Amino acid sequence: MQIFNGSSMIKTHLVPCNLCGSKNTSFICKARDRLHGVEGEFNYVKCSECGLIYMNPQVVPEDIPQLYPSNYAPHHSRNKKKRFGFISELCSYLTSMAKIRKEIYNCLDNESRVLDVGCGSGSILNDIRKRTGCQVYGVDISENAVQTAKELYGIDIFKGDIKDSTWQDNYFDVITAWQYLEHVNDPNQNVEKMCRLLKNSGWLILGIPNYKSLHAKWFKNKWFPLDCPRHLCLWSPQTITKLINKHGLKVEYIVYDMTPWSLIGSLQYLIYGDNLNPGTKNRLMYSRCLLVLMFPWTLLMSLLKCSDVIIVYARKQQANE
Ligand SMILES: [Zn+2]
Repeated sequence: MQIFNGSSMIKTHLVPCNLCGSKNTSFICKARDRLHGVEGEFNYVKCSECGLIYMNPQVVPEDIPQLYPSNYAPHHSRNKKKRFGFISELCSYLTSMAKIRKEIYNCLDNESRVLDVGCGSGSILNDIRKRTGCQVYGVDISENAVQTAKELYGIDIFKGDIKDSTWQDNYFDVITAWQYLEHVNDPNQNVEKMCRLLKNSGWLILGIPNYKSLHAKWFKNKWFPLDCPRHLCLWSPQTITKLINKHGLKVEYIVYDMTPWSLIGSLQYLIYGDNLNPGTKNRLMYSRCLLVLMFPWTLLMSLLKCSDVIIVYARKQQANE
């Protein structure tokens, strides 16, 4: 099955559920790219056995790079702080507080090794290194990301797929993957590799969209974190826990994000349509006023455990545990 994509062809194929292997699904929604204008429509389905939401038919692995424009933001350095001033500072503070919890930070020293998978330009690694003095490592498939990380922060990034990396097993104290797992076509193998690279009692920290959020139900295919067609799998607390348990880790806790960014993205789609038209592009995304107004609501969503983004903290168990 092929979908025409401008001057190139994006090929798709039917795939079984990456979590449980079942081929039984129910249709969830049809969606299109509202952010970067990749041509075509893509189906999302729900696995009848385990509940995983995934794109099916799915973009074939060799065509996945075509889904990312050369100016794809996470592959470049960004500086929102200038644009949003203190509001952005506050959101960044709240987000970073959630990202790596204090008790994990406190265990890191200059002998600890932290790996960020899908590290983009390396700004998060740089921040962790500054705070703790630990050794930082990254992996990303983007040449832009690798160059930016080297130039801005002096961090050497392994360019390629985590599954092809050559670090020895039991090497890292902490492995993080922020907004990464939903982009890969084989999350099961990715998590398996991350678990092997972790030391016993090491932490795996995954930041992912939460398909069980209230906003996912409300906005459907206009839900900002759907990010069709770049998001191939969409997780819930239940399905991500199944995946993690499968590889010998235990989920210790899940943090529910309280920032309003993704809600504002969804409202942008609802009010102004696809975020492609130069006349309306990012009209709401840069509204300071809306950020402040929406915050009490997204704080409530966080308290009710139904926010758009979750951060999962899992720990590798000792062999005899
Ligand atoms: Zn399944």
